[in-house]
Amino acid sequence: MNKKFKIGIDYGGTKIEGVLIDDKGNQIERKRYYYDKNYVSGIDTIKKLVDEFDNISNQTCSVGLGIPGFSSKETKLITNANSSWLNDKPFQKDLEIALKRQVKLMNDANCLTLSEAIDGAGKNYDSVFGIIIGSGFGGGLSYKKEIIEGANQIAGDWGHQPLPYPTDEEIKLDVKCPSGNCGRPLCAEQFISGTGFTNIFNKKYNTNLTTKEIVELDKNNDDRANLEFSLYEDRMARLLAVMIGIFDPGAIVLGGGMSNIERFYNNIPKLIPKYTFAKKIETKVLKNLHGDSSGVRGAAWLWNN
Ligand SMILES: [Zn+2]
Repeated sequence: MNKKFKIGIDYGGTKIEGVLIDDKGNQIERKRYYYDKNYVSGIDTIKKLVDEFDNISNQTCSVGLGIPGFSSKETKLITNANSSWLNDKPFQKDLEIALKRQVKLMNDANCLTLSEAIDGAGKNYDSVFGIIIGSGFGGGLSYKKEIIEGANQIAGDWGHQPLPYPTDEEIKLDVKCPSGNCGRPLCAEQFISGTGFTNIFNKKYNTNLTTKEIVELDKNNDDRANLEFSLYEDRMARLLAVMIGIFDPGAIVLGGGMSNIERFYNNIPKLIPKYTFAKKIETKVLKNLHGDSSGVRGAAWLWNN
């Protein structure tokens, strides 16, 4: 009867999702609520979820939260959140008052990484590099089932670095990064995110397709889709080779919408040794195990002690 339950919360742009897990990681309950896009409504919605989970488990559970952006260790304020109403707010402090307990906050890419490292696709590896490829592109590092946050709290978040070994075509695409903190030429996110990939495709072929439609074209042996995914795989191999040269992880786990494209897991590993100093690469490129649940599960595992 001394089972300790954990609550994980994922703070999205339109909805807030929560999960209740036991100390073995078994999911007891999962819920999501939409909220008004403002600071107070977000806190009220989190409190509602936490109260419900406390009632189900009949105890004061630990609470971890995945957020878009990060809570600065220096100022205790939220930075770089795309849910803009969070920025420059003392979110952790306000949550701790509302929930009457300590709360841990972590970047959402780190939550995916932690979830997959603890009991997901990366559970058999000491070092895991987790990557989210959706409308954006970011990553996180884990070693021995703990997140490496880094001195600037951006370890592994290399999505806005320039694409390595750019080809003439990539340079001529002249991609524009909309982020105010970036805007630099050859920003990798503009090539690798689902949005970036699809923008390039539509520009090159003068189409107006969605990512899903391009994936369908590829399944039907469309030459354009096959070529663009082949170029994509080579770009990803270059980016991963850089990370292998620095962190050399046992496993690279992909999450986000683009992680559902099955050909990547066969093709990308074969391309990586073209760009690494080591001829033989042991690093596995794996699809996430927990899918959409990885964000909330990783947030819950922030209290893993
Ligand atoms: Zn950028």
